[in-house]
Amino acid sequence: MWRLWLFGKNFIKIFEAGEDNLEMELWYTEKQTPNVGLTCTVKGTLFRCKTEYQEMAVLDTFQFGRMLVLDGMVQTTIADEFIYHEMIVHVPMCTHPSPKTVVVVGGGDGGTVREICKYPSVEKVILVEIDAQVVEASRRFFPEMSCCLDDPRVEIRIADGIEYIHSLQSFCDLIIVDSTEPVGPAVGLFDTPFYQAVFRALKDDGILVAQTESPFFNADLIRSVFPRVKTVFPSTYFYLAAIPTYPSGLWSFTMGSKKYNPREPEGTFIPQDTRYYWPGIHRSSFVLPKFVQELVE
Ligand code: SAM
Repeated sequence: MWRLWLFGKNFIKIFEAGEDNLEMELWYTEKQTPNVGLTCTVKGTLFRCKTEYQEMAVLDTFQFGRMLVLDGMVQTTIADEFIYHEMIVHVPMCTHPSPKTVVVVGGGDGGTVREICKYPSVEKVILVEIDAQVVEASRRFFPEMSCCLDDPRVEIRIADGIEYIHSLQSFCDLIIVDSTEPVGPAVGLFDTPFYQAVFRALKDDGILVAQTESPFFNADLIRSVFPRVKTVFPSTYFYLAAIPTYPSGLWSFTMGSKKYNPREPEGTFIPQDTRYYWPGIHRSSFVLPKFVQELVE
């Protein structure tokens, strides 16, 4: 039996001596911490390139289907993308009574835009993705996620989300930060000046939602990001979802709101074609385990 292992960025090959046939298994490992990894068997690498901003790979895995990997970190997979995209979109969208203009920072795979487009109130969605090649790869390999990128309400801007948000004033109802981990061009998306610019870019009753990593492995990040949002917005909230391919499986979202309380959502439209989100999950996602509560106190 031959085994070929692909370790995150460093594609290391380990061969095991075979008996008498050349059957081969291909494994991919994301080293989520120096001591922990997510490993799965791979049918093949469909695409791999170095973009201006990051190293990108599209893998075809047995367990999760196609998988988008940026700089050795799993961004999304066909099997569990619905959890992340439904939770980053429907919690804030159902909190606001009638969101019309929404800006997505990052999110080049299109999954977040797909969920936003379900709302009849939405007139304009602006996707600000820094890396055009992520959008192109998603159109080619992830039609399930990129399917609404050509909706007439959607405008795609290939630009740095930080600069774009700084250019706006009282413009939108909701800003969703669907970013990579805080490395490279995403570092500034987790900082106070960006949240101040988000506050200015939102209308008087606007909402910010940002993905804020794993409470288990990224406690320090949450301990610093949550207070930053709290100093800028009158109300700040923290909620969770269980996402199998993300580090530790427990994922967090931070919300800053000028007016609406997500625990008493005001939306009249509730999407029905969801697989994770429903009003019960909306309410329960704000109920935090004690160790998570301590991170945001
Ligand atoms: N769901 C994913 C997660 O939590 O891992 C995020 C997926 S989405 C592919 C993240 C995108 O953010 C990437 O395509 C990356 O290019 C984009 N991005 C990173 N920094 C950015 C910035 N400053 N402005 C706009 N897009 C950015």
